[in-house]
Amino acid sequence: MSVTEFDIIRRYFARQPVSRKDVLVGVGDDAAVLQLPAGQELLVCMDTLVAGVHFPLATPAAAIGHKALAVNLSDLAAMGAEPAWATLALTLPEPDPDWLEAFASGFFALAGRHGVQLIGGDITRGPLSATVQVHGFAPPRQSLLRLGAQPGDRIYVTGTLGDAALALRLPESAAAELRSRLDYPEPRLEAGRLLRGLASAVIDISDGLLADLGHLLEGDDLGASLQVDELPRSAGFGAALQRLDSAPAGLYYELPLSGGDDYELCFSVPEHSCAEVERRLGELPCGCTAIGSIEAQPGIRCYLQDGTGYQPRETGYLHFAGGAHG
Ligand code: ADP
Ligand code: MG
Repeated sequence: MSVTEFDIIRRYFARQPVSRKDVLVGVGDDAAVLQLPAGQELLVCMDTLVAGVHFPLATPAAAIGHKALAVNLSDLAAMGAEPAWATLALTLPEPDPDWLEAFASGFFALAGRHGVQLIGGDITRGPLSATVQVHGFAPPRQSLLRLGAQPGDRIYVTGTLGDAALALRLPESAAAELRSRLDYPEPRLEAGRLLRGLASAVIDISDGLLADLGHLLEGDDLGASLQVDELPRSAGFGAALQRLDSAPAGLYYELPLSGGDDYELCFSVPEHSCAEVERRLGELPCGCTAIGSIEAQPGIRCYLQDGTGYQPRETGYLHFAGGAHG
C-alpha cells in the first residue's frame, strides 16, 4: 500500500503496549525478536479469512478482527497450548478509518484476554482478507494431537453445537446470542490445557462435527458411534429453530452434526480418565458433554435415543452401517 501503510500500522496495530517480557522487539522493525521460553515446545498455526467465503460480507469489522484471531487460537486450544504471539497480514480494498478502528478493537480485545501480543504483520491492497498466524507453547511431549484415540474411548465436545450454522439461516436482526456464536467464537483455550495428559486425541470443530471427528478418526483408521440426541444444543438454538417457519425437517440433528463454525473442541478420553475430565471441564462455563464412543470399525454411525440408526444427510464420505447399537 502507499505512504499511508505506515500511518495505518502506527495508528491501529502498534497500539498494544508490549506487556510480554518474551517480546524483545515487536511491531515496527524489520522483524520481531522473541525470547523462546526454556524447556517449552513452540506451536505455530495460521488461518486466512476471506470476505464472502469465510464470513458474510455484512459481518461487522470488530467481528472479523475477533474471528481472524479466534480461529487460530482455537487451533492452539485443540493442541492444549498456551498462546503467546500473533502476526497479522491484512488485505484491504481501501483504508477506511472506521473499519480499521473496529477491526483492531475486536482483534485486541480477544488478544488481551488471552495474553497474546501482536508482534508484526503486513498490509496490502486487494479484496478483503485477514491472515493471522499464532505462536504458542506447550510442555515437552504434552501437545494434544488428532492421533491417539483408542476403541472404547468416550467422545466429548465442549460447549454447544449448531448455533453458528443456525445464525446463518436467520435474518440478521434475529437471535443475537446465536449471531454472536457465529461472529465472536470463544476459543476453548482453558479446556484444551485442562485436557493435557487426559485426552487421547483432540481436534477443534470448524467444518462441522462429522467432518472434524472424521479427521480425528482417519489417522488411526478408527470409527465412532454418536448419540445424536445427546449433542449439546443451546437454549437459544431450540427457541430459534421453532421460530423458523420453513425449517427443513432434520435441522435439529443436521446443524449440530455438520453445520460448522462451532469452534468447540471434540476429544476422546479413555474410560479411566472420564471422571477427571468431567470434573475439570465442569468447572468451566463451556462444560463438556459425552456424545459417543470410539470404535474399531471405520465410519461414523449415528443413533437416536431409542437405538435406531440415524442417517445424516450431509455425510458424503461417511457411511452408516446399520445393525446393532455398538
Ligand atoms: P517491511 O517493508 O520491512 O516488511 P512493513 O512496512 O511491511 O515493513 O512493516 C513495518 C513494521 O510494521 C513491521 O514490524 C511489520 O511487522 C509491522 N506491521 C505491518 N503490518 C502490520 C499489521 N497489520 N499488524 C501488525 N504489524 C504490522
Ligand atoms: Mg512488509
